[in-house]
Amino acid sequence: MEFDVAVLGGGSAGYAAASSAQSHGAKVAIVDPGPLGGLCILRGCMPTKTILRSSDIIALMRRAQEFGLLPVKASADLAAINDRKNQLIREFTDYRVEQLKNPRFTLIQEKAEFISPSEVQVGKSILKAKSFIIATGSVITEYPIPGLKETGYVTSDEVLTMRKTPESIIVIGAGAVAVELAQFFIRIGTKVTLIQRSHHILSQSDEDLALPVEARFREENMNLYTGTKIIKASKENDRSTIYFEHEGKEKRVEAETILQALGRRPNIDGINLQAAGVATDIGRVTVDSEMRTSQKNIFAVGDVNGIHEVVHIAIQQGEIAGFNACSPDNSKEVDNRLKASVVFTDPAVASVGLSEKECKATNIDYLVASYPFSDHGKSICLGETYGHVKILCTPTTGEVLGGHIVGPEAGELIHEIITLMHFHGTVYDLINIPHYHPTLAEILTYPAEALVERLSGK
Ligand SMILES: Cc1cc2nc3c(=O)[nH]c(=O)nc-3n(C[C@H](O)[C@H](O)[C@H](O)COP(=O)(O)OP(=O)(O)OC[C@H]3O[C@@H](n4cnc5c(N)ncnc54)[C@H](O)[C@@H]3O)c2cc1C
Repeated sequence: MEFDVAVLGGGSAGYAAASSAQSHGAKVAIVDPGPLGGLCILRGCMPTKTILRSSDIIALMRRAQEFGLLPVKASADLAAINDRKNQLIREFTDYRVEQLKNPRFTLIQEKAEFISPSEVQVGKSILKAKSFIIATGSVITEYPIPGLKETGYVTSDEVLTMRKTPESIIVIGAGAVAVELAQFFIRIGTKVTLIQRSHHILSQSDEDLALPVEARFREENMNLYTGTKIIKASKENDRSTIYFEHEGKEKRVEAETILQALGRRPNIDGINLQAAGVATDIGRVTVDSEMRTSQKNIFAVGDVNGIHEVVHIAIQQGEIAGFNACSPDNSKEVDNRLKASVVFTDPAVASVGLSEKECKATNIDYLVASYPFSDHGKSICLGETYGHVKILCTPTTGEVLGGHIVGPEAGELIHEIITLMHFHGTVYDLINIPHYHPTLAEILTYPAEALVERLSGK
């Protein structure tokens, strides 16, 4: 059991790391106790996006008359929605397991625990490696809300196995997972109350991006409370109840169940980082831009380092760590300039690069312009007029610093800005690149035009 590189965890980050190290000539082991497949495939991106497709379609069906169609009676069958999801996920999982079992790696289906910086215990054996890549992912965080544990709650994991649509649900939290699932439930016929501590949902983004989503949620009859403080949870007459402060008053809401969607934390449980001499900071494995931990032969990638818990970043970090583990004299670094995120609500929210909040916090000068979908031809044709696009650029050269879209197909449209920023493109490039008419993508040229006018002093 001696390897050049041993990867702990075979999810998105771990598989990318193993693949990259193996293709750079290393003898690679992947250690993962399973279930194999990783969070994205088993309980994250893919299953949630599959079920959201059903709730998006039912929401459109309810709008039939708006488009000159005869009204249809649309109702959801959560068991059938989850059956469709299970079938698709089985296929994705089978493919990933096949990749992990490929003879280019040695797959060891055991839990790994460090016993020194160059050895891990796997079952009854000791595995030695020159480098380790920790990719053990994340776990759901438990928050100390009085009475919540005793009252009971579901998480995104249980939602994916539900067979019966709950009559009502209280969602606590308003990050990506919380808001996507809150809208899923309201659209399949559950009465939804969402309670959030900060003054807007998706609080890490600029506020203007949250407003169209909040407006849509309210239009869909969601009870949305922001700027709250949860006091306690309790079970009353078999109903899950939350007491909270809102606008200076104590309020109480009750529902059939509670969805605890307050977030996840890095999974460092039981891997004995102390024995490896790997430092952590508030539960996250700290890494430098080469993905190295405080122990130079040990890397940490994906959710376990808590930098930005999304899949393409996990993969990018994995590829870089896999390369660096094999090429000590020629290290690569992660480029955080293109940090992107997408929230798959309707309207969707997509961002790349710097937000206004970040520019202000770090004293970066910027120009900004926005344009609403309600004034854009193609979105008016589609009947999708919630939201806007926003572009930030430097006040000197017009290089794009960030792009933000809240609106139809935001998750697809953002890739034009990602591509532009990859090549250090400017707002001048954006208006010079041809855009087919009529498309949603054309809208990006309007804020770019406004910025070009300001840059040229018109
Ligand atoms: C509901 C939900 C929806 C999401 N939607 C999106 C989305 O739309 N887009 C997006 O980009 N991201 C999304 N994410 C986030 C995304 O799923 C994660 O960022 C990503 O999957 C993390 O990959 P990872 O490789 O770091 O961890 P994981 O995929 O969790 O892999 C960790 C692996 O480590 C193994 N392991 C654990 N302990 C040990 C041990 N001691 N020894 C060896 N192996 C171990 C586990 O078995 C697991 O296979 C979503 C997450 C959730 C929860």
